Amino acid sequence: MERIALVLVLLFFGIGPSTQLFSQEVEKTIEIRGVYGNPKPLWEKGHNLKSLGVNSIFVHSGALTREMINRAKAEGALVFAEFATLNGKNYVDEHPEAWAINEKGEKVKAATWFMGVCPTDVGFRNYRMNQLRQLLIAFDLDGVWMDYVHWHAQFEDPEPILPETCFSDSCLITFSEDFGIQLPEGTAAKKAQWILENKEKEWREWRCQVIASWAKEIKGILAEMRPNALLGLYHCPWTDAEFNQARRRILGLDYDLLKQTVDVFSPMVYHGRMERKPTWVAENVAWLCDRLTIENDTSPKVWPIVQAHNDPHIISAKEFSTVLKGGLTYPSSGVMMFTTNAVAEDSQKIKVMRNLYRSIDSVQSSN
Ligand SMILES: [Zn+2]
Repeated sequence: MERIALVLVLLFFGIGPSTQLFSQEVEKTIEIRGVYGNPKPLWEKGHNLKSLGVNSIFVHSGALTREMINRAKAEGALVFAEFATLNGKNYVDEHPEAWAINEKGEKVKAATWFMGVCPTDVGFRNYRMNQLRQLLIAFDLDGVWMDYVHWHAQFEDPEPILPETCFSDSCLITFSEDFGIQLPEGTAAKKAQWILENKEKEWREWRCQVIASWAKEIKGILAEMRPNALLGLYHCPWTDAEFNQARRRILGLDYDLLKQTVDVFSPMVYHGRMERKPTWVAENVAWLCDRLTIENDTSPKVWPIVQAHNDPHIISAKEFSTVLKGGLTYPSSGVMMFTTNAVAEDSQKIKVMRNLYRSIDSVQSSN
């Protein structure tokens, strides 16, 4: 049995002479065989998580119910909540002071479906942290995955939207105070121009610190209320150089800062949405793991989220297989896919997921 399972793993990973090493790594390191989304579509088709080899569910915090959690746990799964962090949709309509401001001093427009909020708005920050506390009181979670942790932008489209923000009063004052920089008198547009011309390096650095401070505060709340829960981050998967370094420069994601706080990085390697090849997933995951220098127990983990969802084109079962395996490129120790529904509605995708997850499970169980 052990031998059959091992052969299965080798077959699924489709590799040759170095299989011995890889299979041992698989046995040792893959912790998470996850799905993203409400498991309901899978349950409605008569599946149960254990028989699919799934051992973790990642669910939007607003969709969680006690009933769902009880069933998932009964089927042997860990439960992680996705927590929308800096998405200001709806909030900014009622709280215009929290609207992100661009370099012209104007309110930004929604970036396709994403509406970023001013990350230094105190009212918004309190509102979100309260939501987090309520979530942790309501449910016994194994972890919280922060989503939308970046300055206003849209990175999930092939042509990303990457505006300069945020030049609200709150941000200008905080930047000036935090870095001891005297800003010129005048309009937000004038100050923005002056900053980008004279203090660009400091501005970019400060913006990264603001984003990291959100992760730190959330981690502090977890430590206080659910000390064993993990803090995860769904994030833009771009390398340091892509789009003229826009991941750090515009989104404000500095891995060196974030890895001090975040337990698990989940790059959103949506190859279809971003018009990349399926093989890009493995390349990107290898790059990220190397970038985060995952080499010992104190380094963050990497559990990517891959695309099963048919948007903007049909993701074939073969493609799905490539990206799911790519997400487990060593030393990644877990994977999940967007979404449960996309897998549930396609029997071939179910097969791909079940075969891979169960074969890994078998190898680990036989140890
Ligand atoms: Zn602002």
